Amino acid sequence: MKPIIILLGVPGCGKGTQAKLLSEKFHFAHISTGDLLRALDADPSADPLDKAMLAQMRSGHLVPDELIHRLVFKAVTDGLTRHPGVILDGAIRTRSQAEAFQRFFSSFHDIKVEAVEIAITDEESFLRLSTRKICSKCGRIIPFSSETKELNTCPACGGILMVRTDDAPDAIRKRILTQGNLPLLPIREYYQGLGIWQRIDGQQPIEKVARDLESVVLEK
Ligand code: AMP
Repeated sequence: MKPIIILLGVPGCGKGTQAKLLSEKFHFAHISTGDLLRALDADPSADPLDKAMLAQMRSGHLVPDELIHRLVFKAVTDGLTRHPGVILDGAIRTRSQAEAFQRFFSSFHDIKVEAVEIAITDEESFLRLSTRKICSKCGRIIPFSSETKELNTCPACGGILMVRTDDAPDAIRKRILTQGNLPLLPIREYYQGLGIWQRIDGQQPIEKVARDLESVVLEK
């Protein structure tokens, strides 16, 4: 059985960081919807109709399900052929997406799906998003800390660090309204009903969150 780990949690909870660590450790495919959408945005040959759907993203709203399903279903199918497991980072942000993904997963017979919430408060989400930076070259997220506050270039690739357009304060407020702890409730209830829900405390140090997440994968 190949694991599919669905990482859930409010913006800034550490889904991207943890997905990267986990994919490196277990050689799983890391599928980040935010990264797929930003790559589409930056691709000059992409379909203009698809690009038009990204307008909502810049202002902090969700992009249409149709685009998410098309991009992510293909990435999951490819990921399962090449990797021993798949991590979905940010693919599920509404109950209707959760339901559509379960329907999609039902066509595979050799997978085991687990939904894991990395839990932080909305206040912590606002604080993290309003103080973090992103590398314009490799996309690495640089969280704010006493060590990183003076950084202008990426410690991994030397790219220029910027603030994401959807990390402006108004866009952050909208994201917390549409992707914060309140809109997460029906998703949590859905997965709890299926008996595939686990919760990890995302306000612990990064290494401890990573160990908790590894235990979820190893339990499988
Ligand atoms: P992220 O990098 O995960 O914070 O995602 C950045 C933005 O991409 C979000 O604020 C949404 O506008 C959009 N997005 C990412 N994943 C989804 C999804 N599953 N459904 C709808 N919009 C999404």
